[in-house]
Amino acid sequence: MNNRYLEGAIAEDLKENIGIYLLIIISLFFVTTFNVTANDIENSDDDITITTTQDATPVAVATATATNTNQTTNNSLPIYNLFPGKSILLKYPLPENLQNIAKENIILTCNNIIIPFYISKNKLLHAYIAESYFSTLKPYNCSISISINNKNDITNPVINPVTSFDIAAINITAINYPTEYLTVNRKKLNIPKKFLNKLSTEKDRLQKIYNSSNPEPYFQENFRLPLNSELTSKYGVKRIFNKKKNSFHLGLDFRAASRTPISATNDGRVVFIGNLFFSGKTIIIDHGIGIFTMYAHLSKYKIRKGVLVKKNQIIGYSGRSGRVSGPHLHWGVRIHNNWIDGQTLVQNDNLKNI
Ligand SMILES: [Zn+2]
Repeated sequence: MNNRYLEGAIAEDLKENIGIYLLIIISLFFVTTFNVTANDIENSDDDITITTTQDATPVAVATATATNTNQTTNNSLPIYNLFPGKSILLKYPLPENLQNIAKENIILTCNNIIIPFYISKNKLLHAYIAESYFSTLKPYNCSISISINNKNDITNPVINPVTSFDIAAINITAINYPTEYLTVNRKKLNIPKKFLNKLSTEKDRLQKIYNSSNPEPYFQENFRLPLNSELTSKYGVKRIFNKKKNSFHLGLDFRAASRTPISATNDGRVVFIGNLFFSGKTIIIDHGIGIFTMYAHLSKYKIRKGVLVKKNQIIGYSGRSGRVSGPHLHWGVRIHNNWIDGQTLVQNDNLKNI
């Protein structure tokens, strides 16, 4: 029991209330293979890849045998460097012959996954590309395809009705995220069956939400960090329990005394409010085009599910709900079903008047 996890947690908690020491013991009881961090134990549905569709209109992806209208060759493709657990903002100026095509007829795929996008007023296609923490590190291309059915664009028929071409090459470079080794009682690594069922239900419920992002962005400006306080646990830390059980911290923990006001990091719609097994009282905001932010371990909500929130609007108050050892804010950023480092989203670009 002489590890940093316990020492730090107990010392911090004793300052507040001796009774909370008991909570630490209880929380350790729930240490599992799912996700356990120095501050919290979180959801672990991060190693799944699910295609996010961005539009209600089902359109077939054109084949590679189609005419290349953009005259883009693989040799001249812009190259983006991406890292596991990070995101980039891909921008592509739509060629003139594509500018009048309805968005519903343009399909962007990266690594064979349909990626939501938006087109700015100056005809730049914008798409956030996120790389899984569990990346295979294989490079891939992003391609645009135009569907045959152009029913939304009667006045501007497509000259080449089916076309597909690459617009960017994505290179993935490995990152060495830190590893921490922890030792806990072996019995405490197992989770009671009744809680596993609850977790499974939660996971299904959340996945439905994550698959239903608004096809257009709600936001018009950069994302910001939820708090200016110290990061108490960084993104990507790998923890190994008893030399064999792994967990991954796929969010950012901010120091936050209980009842610190927490505000939205960008405009969006509140798509989930509820008390989750690991994350406690949690708010999830859909920002559109497959981007979600999660605010966990809250003590109180200040908004209701379904409402639109503005950037900087207070949505709740921090706390210590869920499987935590002390009050803090866990901020998760999910892009196209990958939990990524929210700091990279904040740094992605200067968005203005999109
Ligand atoms: Zn966390």
